[in-house]
Amino acid sequence: MSFTSRRDFLKNAAIGSAAAGTGLSASVLFSEPSGFNRIRYRDLGSTGCKVSEMGFGVLHTQDTALIHGAIDSGINYFDTAHGYQNGACETTLGKVMKTRRKEIFLTTKISGAPEKMREEIDISLKRLQTDCVDMLLVHGPGSREQILNNDTMQVMDDARSQGKTRFIGFSTHNQVVGLDAAIESNFWQSVSLPYNYFSPPEVIDAIKRTRKNGIAIIAMKALITVERPRKPFPDIRTDKNGSTTNQQALLRWVLNDPNVDTVIPGIGSFEHLADDVAVMGTKLTMNDRQIIRRYTANAKQHYCQGIAGCTGCREMCPYGVEVHDLNRCINYAYGYGSIDLARYNYYNLPRSSRIEKCDNCETCVVKCVNGLDTNATVHRARTLFA
Ligand code: SF4
Ligand code: SF4
Repeated sequence: MSFTSRRDFLKNAAIGSAAAGTGLSASVLFSEPSGFNRIRYRDLGSTGCKVSEMGFGVLHTQDTALIHGAIDSGINYFDTAHGYQNGACETTLGKVMKTRRKEIFLTTKISGAPEKMREEIDISLKRLQTDCVDMLLVHGPGSREQILNNDTMQVMDDARSQGKTRFIGFSTHNQVVGLDAAIESNFWQSVSLPYNYFSPPEVIDAIKRTRKNGIAIIAMKALITVERPRKPFPDIRTDKNGSTTNQQALLRWVLNDPNVDTVIPGIGSFEHLADDVAVMGTKLTMNDRQIIRRYTANAKQHYCQGIAGCTGCREMCPYGVEVHDLNRCINYAYGYGSIDLARYNYYNLPRSSRIEKCDNCETCVVKCVNGLDTNATVHRARTLFA
């Protein structure tokens, strides 16, 4: 079934019609789970807040009707970033916040450069049309040193004490290092990180010990995107019964981990929204596992599992380039279909991981433990970023 508008979505989607127009207040959403069938809220770490286990990653859309539809359907966790679509995603959310701020838990991310952070926070608040977000994240620190940087922590602490955010955290693509640094800091209240079926056991264990310490876990990149958003390769959206998409099975796999507080797939259409809302409150089944096995058997020939936590080629390049970082940036272009996002992430990499270094090599000596062609990675990265 495809949905082209908010009205269409609410009329046809079972969950949407159940929750629509009920006027849920923030206090209800944040204090106790909804009684609506299959709308599930989870504790967000030790914040005392309840958030929908299905969140909304606002990075693909500038459609306010889609945001309204998601709130109507019971989703209350929204995540965006200062840098997404050059600020247009924050601006879009801001138009909705004008009237619905109290109904959602609002998260945004700012860059980790201490000299820019204060200004970025104020710009983001303005775009979001609010004085205070619920969660402010530093966007993408990758090392223990960055996560424990005193200047960064000071800016974030100030933002919290000035009432510009209620809680603070960071996002990272260096899962185990990032989670352990969060525990060590005794400071950060949440970590947003890639987590999916390909995540190795050490990531699953690190999530568990972090959550035990009361730090909220926000899972991103749950969908294993190889070609375009929601059209992974090959596209096997439905199982034999036509009842479950591969994306739904992948989301259920992540939510099957009780240490995950919310998962934030990028939602770009009412069809995605209906798929994702329907996952809430459902259990991972044997059928899902079968779908995932089929899907990942194909996907792993193209997908760098470094996104999910594979460290098989770390520090293998004699010039300091991290091929898994290049693959992640390339995935934004070919997996998410966003060249802008690919470039934004690439230019946020440490200078040591830039593609210019590859001019030193005729052949890439980095070997992928999962059989990916690293020369193809270098070639694709040159095409996109050189
Ligand atoms: S390139 Fe291969 S070894 Fe390196 S992170 Fe990706 S999947 Fe793992
Ligand atoms: S081509 Fe050379 S510099 Fe580039 S990643 Fe491979 S080994 Fe490193």
